[in-house]
Amino acid sequence: MNLLSGINGYYHGFGRGYGWGFDPTYLLAILGLVLTLIASARVKSTFHTYAKVRSASGLTGAMAAERVLHSCGIYNVGIERISGELTDHYDPRSKTLRLSESTYGSNSVAAICVAAHECGHAVQDQVQYGPLVLRSTLVPLANFGSTLSWPIFLAGLIFSMRPLPMGGIILFCLAVLFQLITLPVEFNASSRALKILEQNHILSDHELTGGRKVLRAAALTYVAALASSLLQLLRLIILARGRDRD
Ligand SMILES: [Zn+2]
Repeated sequence: MNLLSGINGYYHGFGRGYGWGFDPTYLLAILGLVLTLIASARVKSTFHTYAKVRSASGLTGAMAAERVLHSCGIYNVGIERISGELTDHYDPRSKTLRLSESTYGSNSVAAICVAAHECGHAVQDQVQYGPLVLRSTLVPLANFGSTLSWPIFLAGLIFSMRPLPMGGIILFCLAVLFQLITLPVEFNASSRALKILEQNHILSDHELTGGRKVLRAAALTYVAALASSLLQLLRLIILARGRDRD
Protein backbone atom coordinates (compact mmCIF):
# COMPACT_ATOMS: atom_id res chain seq x y z
CA MET A 1 0.00 0.00 0.00
CA ASN A 2 2.91 2.34 0.60
CA LEU A 3 3.76 2.12 -3.08
CA LEU A 4 0.91 4.44 -3.78
CA SER A 5 2.28 7.44 -1.90
CA GLY A 6 5.40 7.22 -4.05
CA ILE A 7 3.54 7.56 -7.31
CA ASN A 8 1.11 10.32 -6.37
CA GLY A 9 2.24 12.25 -9.39
CA TYR A 10 0.43 9.78 -11.60
CA TYR A 11 -2.94 10.59 -10.13
CA HIS A 12 -4.30 13.45 -12.18
CA GLY A 13 -7.58 13.27 -10.31
CA PHE A 14 -5.96 13.82 -6.94
CA GLY A 15 -3.61 16.38 -8.31
CA ARG A 16 -6.46 18.52 -9.49
CA GLY A 17 -8.76 17.90 -6.57
CA TYR A 18 -6.49 17.97 -3.56
CA GLY A 19 -3.10 19.25 -4.58
CA TRP A 20 -0.05 17.25 -5.56
CA GLY A 21 1.58 15.07 -2.98
CA PHE A 22 -1.49 14.49 -0.82
CA ASP A 23 -3.72 11.52 -1.33
CA PRO A 24 -6.69 11.86 1.07
CA THR A 25 -7.46 8.14 0.92
CA TYR A 26 -4.10 7.65 2.65
CA LEU A 27 -5.98 8.55 5.84
CA LEU A 28 -7.90 5.27 5.51
CA ALA A 29 -4.61 3.34 5.46
CA ILE A 30 -3.37 5.30 8.49
CA LEU A 31 -6.62 4.62 10.36
CA GLY A 32 -6.19 0.89 9.63
CA LEU A 33 -2.62 1.00 10.87
CA VAL A 34 -3.68 2.76 14.09
CA LEU A 35 -6.39 0.13 14.72
CA THR A 36 -3.93 -2.74 14.33
CA LEU A 37 -1.35 -1.01 16.55
CA ILE A 38 -3.95 -0.43 19.30
CA ALA A 39 -5.08 -4.07 19.15
CA SER A 40 -1.48 -5.31 19.21
CA ALA A 41 -0.58 -3.09 22.20
CA ARG A 42 -3.71 -4.26 24.01
CA VAL A 43 -2.99 -7.98 23.58
CA LYS A 44 0.59 -7.48 24.75
CA SER A 45 -0.40 -5.55 27.88
CA THR A 46 -3.19 -8.04 28.75
CA PHE A 47 -0.81 -10.95 28.19
CA HIS A 48 1.88 -9.35 30.37
CA THR A 49 -0.67 -8.70 33.16
CA TYR A 50 -1.74 -12.35 33.32
CA ALA A 51 1.77 -13.65 32.62
CA LYS A 52 2.52 -12.44 36.17
CA VAL A 53 -0.38 -14.43 37.65
CA ARG A 54 0.82 -17.94 38.56
CA SER A 55 -1.82 -20.63 38.10
CA ALA A 56 -2.83 -22.59 41.22
CA SER A 57 -2.27 -25.89 39.35
CA GLY A 58 1.40 -25.02 38.75
CA LEU A 59 1.16 -26.51 35.24
CA THR A 60 3.32 -24.94 32.53
CA GLY A 61 1.90 -24.06 29.12
CA ALA A 62 3.40 -27.23 27.63
CA MET A 63 2.06 -29.45 30.43
CA ALA A 64 -1.39 -27.86 30.18
CA ALA A 65 -1.34 -28.33 26.38
CA GLU A 66 -0.56 -32.03 26.79
CA ARG A 67 -3.37 -32.43 29.30
CA VAL A 68 -5.84 -30.56 27.06
CA LEU A 69 -4.89 -32.65 24.00
CA HIS A 70 -5.14 -35.94 25.90
CA SER A 71 -8.51 -34.96 27.36
CA CYS A 72 -9.73 -34.65 23.74
CA GLY A 73 -8.25 -38.03 22.78
CA ILE A 74 -5.44 -36.45 20.74
CA TYR A 75 -2.12 -38.29 21.10
CA ASN A 76 -0.54 -37.68 17.67
CA VAL A 77 0.29 -33.98 18.12
CA GLY A 78 3.83 -33.04 19.13
CA ILE A 79 4.62 -30.04 21.34
CA GLU A 80 7.70 -27.95 20.52
CA ARG A 81 9.31 -24.86 21.97
CA ILE A 82 10.02 -21.95 19.58
CA SER A 83 11.65 -18.56 20.06
CA GLY A 84 9.82 -15.26 20.37
CA GLU A 85 6.81 -13.96 22.25
CA LEU A 86 3.23 -14.70 21.18
CA THR A 87 4.57 -16.65 18.21
CA ASP A 88 2.55 -19.67 19.33
CA HIS A 89 0.77 -21.61 16.61
CA TYR A 90 -0.49 -25.02 15.56
CA ASP A 91 0.89 -26.50 12.34
CA PRO A 92 -1.75 -28.85 10.85
CA ARG A 93 0.65 -30.28 8.25
CA SER A 94 3.18 -31.64 10.74
CA LYS A 95 0.58 -31.96 13.54
CA THR A 96 2.78 -29.90 15.83
CA LEU A 97 1.91 -27.40 18.52
CA ARG A 98 4.65 -24.76 18.67
CA LEU A 99 4.70 -22.80 21.89
CA SER A 100 6.79 -19.67 22.36
CA GLU A 101 9.36 -19.19 25.12
CA SER A 102 6.90 -17.10 27.13
CA THR A 103 4.31 -19.87 27.00
CA TYR A 104 6.10 -23.23 26.93
CA GLY A 105 7.76 -23.23 30.35
CA SER A 106 5.65 -20.62 32.13
CA ASN A 107 3.04 -21.63 34.68
CA SER A 108 1.08 -18.39 34.37
CA VAL A 109 -2.63 -18.10 33.59
CA ALA A 110 -1.74 -16.32 30.31
CA ALA A 111 0.63 -19.10 29.19
CA ILE A 112 -1.89 -21.86 29.93
CA CYS A 113 -4.66 -20.03 28.05
CA VAL A 114 -2.52 -19.34 24.98
CA ALA A 115 -1.34 -22.98 24.93
CA ALA A 116 -4.94 -24.20 25.30
CA HIS A 117 -6.03 -21.90 22.46
CA GLU A 118 -3.48 -23.55 20.14
CA CYS A 119 -4.81 -26.93 21.29
CA GLY A 120 -8.23 -25.62 20.20
CA HIS A 121 -6.83 -25.45 16.65
CA ALA A 122 -5.52 -29.02 16.95
CA VAL A 123 -9.02 -30.13 17.98
CA GLN A 124 -10.51 -28.22 15.03
CA ASP A 125 -8.06 -30.06 12.76
CA GLN A 126 -9.03 -33.41 14.24
CA VAL A 127 -12.78 -32.86 13.84
CA GLN A 128 -12.27 -31.12 10.45
CA TYR A 129 -14.05 -27.98 11.65
CA GLY A 130 -15.64 -26.44 8.52
CA PRO A 131 -14.23 -22.86 8.70
CA LEU A 132 -10.71 -24.25 9.35
CA VAL A 133 -10.94 -26.53 6.29
CA LEU A 134 -12.20 -23.61 4.18
CA ARG A 135 -9.45 -21.36 5.55
CA SER A 136 -6.73 -23.91 4.68
CA THR A 137 -8.16 -24.19 1.15
CA LEU A 138 -8.05 -20.40 0.78
CA VAL A 139 -4.36 -20.03 1.82
CA PRO A 140 -2.83 -20.19 -1.71
CA LEU A 141 -5.54 -17.96 -3.18
CA ALA A 142 -5.15 -15.42 -0.35
CA ASN A 143 -1.35 -15.36 -0.76
CA PHE A 144 -1.75 -14.88 -4.50
CA GLY A 145 -4.31 -12.11 -3.93
CA SER A 146 -2.37 -10.18 -1.32
CA THR A 147 0.88 -10.33 -3.33
CA LEU A 148 -0.52 -9.30 -6.71
CA SER A 149 -3.50 -7.07 -5.89
CA TRP A 150 -1.61 -3.77 -5.46
CA PRO A 151 0.89 -4.25 -8.36
CA ILE A 152 -1.97 -5.11 -10.75
CA PHE A 153 -4.14 -2.29 -9.41
CA LEU A 154 -1.35 0.28 -9.76
CA ALA A 155 -0.31 -0.97 -13.22
CA GLY A 156 -3.93 -0.49 -14.30
CA LEU A 157 -3.98 3.11 -13.04
CA ILE A 158 -0.56 4.04 -14.40
CA PHE A 159 -1.10 2.60 -17.87
CA SER A 160 -4.83 3.47 -17.96
CA MET A 161 -5.82 -0.14 -18.59
CA ARG A 162 -9.36 -0.16 -17.25
CA PRO A 163 -9.92 -3.85 -16.38
CA LEU A 164 -6.74 -4.06 -14.29
CA PRO A 165 -7.80 -1.92 -11.28
CA MET A 166 -10.95 -4.05 -10.97
CA GLY A 167 -8.79 -7.20 -11.22
CA GLY A 168 -6.60 -5.84 -8.42
CA ILE A 169 -9.68 -5.17 -6.27
CA ILE A 170 -11.00 -8.72 -6.86
CA LEU A 171 -7.60 -10.17 -5.90
CA PHE A 172 -7.55 -8.03 -2.76
CA CYS A 173 -11.04 -9.38 -1.90
CA LEU A 174 -9.52 -12.89 -1.75
CA ALA A 175 -7.17 -11.74 1.00
CA VAL A 176 -10.07 -10.05 2.83
CA LEU A 177 -12.15 -13.22 2.55
CA PHE A 178 -9.31 -15.16 4.17
CA GLN A 179 -9.24 -12.71 7.09
CA LEU A 180 -13.02 -12.93 7.42
CA ILE A 181 -13.00 -16.74 7.63
CA THR A 182 -10.15 -16.50 10.17
CA LEU A 183 -12.52 -14.90 12.71
CA PRO A 184 -14.79 -17.93 13.41
CA VAL A 185 -11.66 -20.16 13.46
CA GLU A 186 -10.01 -17.99 16.14
CA PHE A 187 -13.13 -17.39 18.26
CA ASN A 188 -14.01 -21.10 18.14
CA ALA A 189 -10.47 -22.17 19.18
CA SER A 190 -10.70 -19.87 22.21
CA SER A 191 -14.15 -21.04 23.26
CA ARG A 192 -13.05 -24.69 22.94
CA ALA A 193 -9.93 -23.90 25.01
CA LEU A 194 -11.83 -22.19 27.83
CA LYS A 195 -14.41 -24.99 27.99
CA ILE A 196 -11.72 -27.71 28.20
CA LEU A 197 -9.73 -25.77 30.83
CA GLU A 198 -12.91 -25.46 32.90
CA GLN A 199 -14.13 -29.05 32.47
CA ASN A 200 -10.73 -30.50 33.36
CA HIS A 201 -10.25 -28.12 36.30
CA ILE A 202 -6.95 -26.90 34.87
CA LEU A 203 -7.87 -23.32 35.78
CA SER A 204 -10.20 -22.10 38.54
CA ASP A 205 -13.22 -19.88 37.79
CA HIS A 206 -11.26 -16.84 38.94
CA GLU A 207 -8.30 -17.74 36.73
CA LEU A 208 -10.61 -18.35 33.78
CA THR A 209 -11.88 -14.77 34.06
CA GLY A 210 -8.32 -13.54 33.41
CA GLY A 211 -7.78 -16.14 30.70
CA ARG A 212 -10.91 -14.99 28.92
CA LYS A 213 -9.51 -11.42 28.82
CA VAL A 214 -6.21 -12.63 27.30
CA LEU A 215 -7.94 -14.65 24.58
CA ARG A 216 -10.47 -11.91 23.84
CA ALA A 217 -7.65 -9.38 23.39
CA ALA A 218 -5.87 -11.84 21.08
CA ALA A 219 -9.04 -12.33 19.01
CA LEU A 220 -9.43 -8.56 18.67
CA THR A 221 -6.12 -8.39 16.76
CA TYR A 222 -7.79 -10.46 14.01
CA VAL A 223 -10.82 -8.17 14.05
CA ALA A 224 -8.51 -5.13 13.75
CA ALA A 225 -6.62 -6.77 10.86
CA LEU A 226 -9.90 -7.37 9.04
CA ALA A 227 -11.06 -3.78 9.70
CA SER A 228 -7.73 -2.49 8.38
CA SER A 229 -8.08 -4.57 5.20
CA LEU A 230 -11.67 -3.39 4.68
CA LEU A 231 -10.42 0.21 4.93
CA GLN A 232 -7.76 -0.61 2.32
CA LEU A 233 -10.43 -2.16 0.11
CA LEU A 234 -12.49 1.01 0.44
CA ARG A 235 -9.40 2.97 -0.49
CA LEU A 236 -8.86 0.89 -3.63
CA ILE A 237 -12.49 1.39 -4.68
CA ILE A 238 -12.30 5.17 -4.13
CA LEU A 239 -9.02 5.37 -6.11
CA ALA A 240 -10.44 3.30 -8.99
CA ARG A 241 -13.65 5.38 -9.14
CA GLY A 242 -11.64 8.61 -9.02
CA ARG A 243 -9.58 7.41 -11.94
CA ASP A 244 -12.67 6.36 -13.91
CA ARG A 245 -14.03 9.91 -13.64
CA ASP A 246 -10.87 11.37 -15.25
ZN1 LIG B 1 -5.45 -19.04 16.95
